[in-house]
Parts: sequence; structure tokens; C-alpha cells
Amino acid sequence: MTSDRFAKLDAEDPLAGLRESFELPAGKVYLDGNSLGALPRGVQERISKLLQQEWGEDLIASWNGHNWIDLPRKVGEKIAPLVGAAPGQVICTDSISVNLFKLISTALALRPGRTVVLSQEDNFPTDLYMAEGLAGLLGQERCQLRAVSANRLLSSLDEDVAVLMLTQVNFRDGRLHDMAGITKAAQAKGALVLWDLAHSAGVIPIELDNWKVDMAVGCGYKYLNGGPGAPAFLFLAQRHQDQVTQPLSGWMGHKDAFEFSPEYQPAAGMQRYLAGTPGILGMAALDAALDVFEGISLDAIRKKSSALTQCFIDQILARGLPGIRLLSPRRAEHRGSQVSLTHPQGFAISQALIERGIIVDYRAPGIIRFGFSPLYNRFTDVDRAVTALSELLRDQDYLATRFTNKAVVT
Ligand SMILES: *Cc1c(COP(=O)(O)O)cnc(C)c1O
Repeated sequence: MTSDRFAKLDAEDPLAGLRESFELPAGKVYLDGNSLGALPRGVQERISKLLQQEWGEDLIASWNGHNWIDLPRKVGEKIAPLVGAAPGQVICTDSISVNLFKLISTALALRPGRTVVLSQEDNFPTDLYMAEGLAGLLGQERCQLRAVSANRLLSSLDEDVAVLMLTQVNFRDGRLHDMAGITKAAQAKGALVLWDLAHSAGVIPIELDNWKVDMAVGCGYKYLNGGPGAPAFLFLAQRHQDQVTQPLSGWMGHKDAFEFSPEYQPAAGMQRYLAGTPGILGMAALDAALDVFEGISLDAIRKKSSALTQCFIDQILARGLPGIRLLSPRRAEHRGSQVSLTHPQGFAISQALIERGIIVDYRAPGIIRFGFSPLYNRFTDVDRAVTALSELLRDQDYLATRFTNKAVVT
């Protein structure tokens, strides 16, 4: 494919104009939106107003005056349509890790007598760690983590499983689960399902209500572009609400926080999933970032995402690059919005790509991840990434020692 052809695909792209809504580093190709989304311009404006007026001038009056106190609900409701949830079921708060703790606890309480949290052994580690932590706290007789390979998930569903906890798109290989089908199969065995949407919210059409999903969590700083450490979100289907409490019973989840009563009484609905005071700077940033999605269909986003990843894969395979293996599924309907390649020198290659202005990341063992965010990535970015990778493999300049030092965050 010639460079003109990539430029033509950009010219024909109905979402191309959205790139203008983002600050992006000049001259670089940013392919890490699956780890930290780019900065939406609207966030800069919102945060500077918040600093000058809301915090700087109005101070404590802003909790009511600028409705800070309502932000977790408001931002949750803004996320809800992106994941196919009717109002009253999504709240924005804490991190995914903390929200998993609340929801696994909820699931165990909703399925008394069942003790197993079933998950996938190559799930994102924090998901497994949180289940292990809860198992340690409650003891094996009340909670156990059972982590199995992907092909053993359905056959491991027995009458001990309280909840099946899975991530829709695997962070290593980008493989996409059949969320509707698995949800149905798990529920037929009496289990609840808890989906982690970290690598799918904002980039894949999700129908939490239509697929009758029980619970979900998702990330604010990946494809939703809410900024580093942005608050996460939590979904609990209406039919399960108000039946049990969650153990992180902080004052923000109390039905009357400002009564300062010594006894905890949970708020109705999603508010009981709040614990402490929301971080307003982070939440306001996510709130503003979500405006980019207004009026855009997730089908259009998914279509472009599939085209970008397919174009990248086709170019990589056509070039037959030495030592490079495609780890992600070849068929677009089986993968999320990232493409993972492996190479024995994967880490050094990822560093050499970054030096050439192609921002990717690395996951052990040997995995180079190329994340495509359809809101701002272009087909010409695909061209530049493939060209850079081909050149550095040809010249073998990734063998330089400066590419072998690992920083704390990869
Ligand atoms: C990024 C990610 C997380 C992050 O969890 P935090 O507690 O919000 O840091 C969790 N799960 C998955 C699958 C992820 O990809």
C-alpha cells in the first residue's frame, strides 16, 4: 500500500475531525491510548476554570454551588450510554481495583452458599489480586479464587461459583470475549457475571442492559481519556440494587452523610458504592473528556478501530518482518482496539520505536502493544508505525545498549 493510499483513507474517515479535539505531541505517533488516553482540549479549559473560579474563588461553597457533590453520579450517567446502561446504574468513583472489591463482595452476598470467584488465569493481575485479598480476609470457607485458562471457563462453572469475573478485552493479546454469550452461559448455571471493561469502554459497543450483565467496572484513563489516574466507574444492574451493602461503608455512601450519625445506613441505589470524598480535579477532567463522545456512535468508533487494526496487521504480515509474530487475533471481530506483536527482543524494539517517535508500550514476555484510539489515530499513523518497525528491524539498531534499560513503568 502506498503512502497516498493511507492519506486517502484519512481523507475519507468520517471521524477524522475529532483529532482536533485533542492535544497531541508534534511529530509523534501516539499508540498508547489503551494505557493513557490523550489530553482532550476541553479538559484544559475545564481544569483552569475549576482552579481559578471554583477552587480559587468560591472554595467550599463549590460543593453545592458548582455541584461538586453530584459529580460521581453525573459522570456515571455520562458513561452509562457508552456501555449500554439505562440511567441509575453507573457511578464514577475510586479505581477499578477498589470497585472490584466492592462488587465481588456484593456478588458473594447475593449468592449465599456459593463461595467461588471464577476468573481467567491471564486476567489483568489486579483483578486476581483483589479477589485473593478478599479471600484472605473472609477465609476460604467464604471466598476462594479459581483462575483457569480461557478454554476452561465455561466447564468450570459449577454450583459453587458465585461470580464469573472476566475482562472483555485481554490486555496482553487484545482478544475479545463474547460477552453476551458468556454472560448467558454463566447465569444459566446460577452465577453472576462481573465484567471489567478497562480495554473496551469507549471503543467497543457494549450493551450491558440488553445482555443482562449483572455487574461491571471500567477505566477512566484509557479510551475515555480522563487523565492519569482518572476515577473508574462501576455498574450494578437495577435488579440487584438495594439488596445488599458493600463493605467499604464510607460516609459518602451513607444515606445522610451530613447528619453525621454514628450508625451507617446505606444510601439507596448506586450512591452506596461511594466510600470517601471524590477527587474533584480528576473527576472534573473525566467529565470534560467525555464531551468528546457527544453525538458520535460507538458503531462508527468500532468500525474505524477495526479498520485501523486490520490495516496495521495486513501491512505487518505482508512485510514478513523477521522474528515478529502476531499475538492478537487476525479477525477483527475477535479483538479489541490493540494489536500485540511479539519478538524475542520485544523490550528493546519498543524502546527503539519510542526513540523514533512511535509511542507504544511493552508487556512481558516479549510483547509490543500498539493501541489504536479511533478518536485521534489516523491511517497515516499506521503507515508510520509499520515503516519505523520495518526499518529498525532491517538496520537492527534496537540492539544498541541504550534500549535495554527498563524503567519502573513500561
Ligand atoms: C488498566 C486496568 C485496570 C486498572 O485498575 P486500577 O485499579 O484502576 O488501576 C484494571 N483492570 C484491567 C483489566 C485493566 O486493564
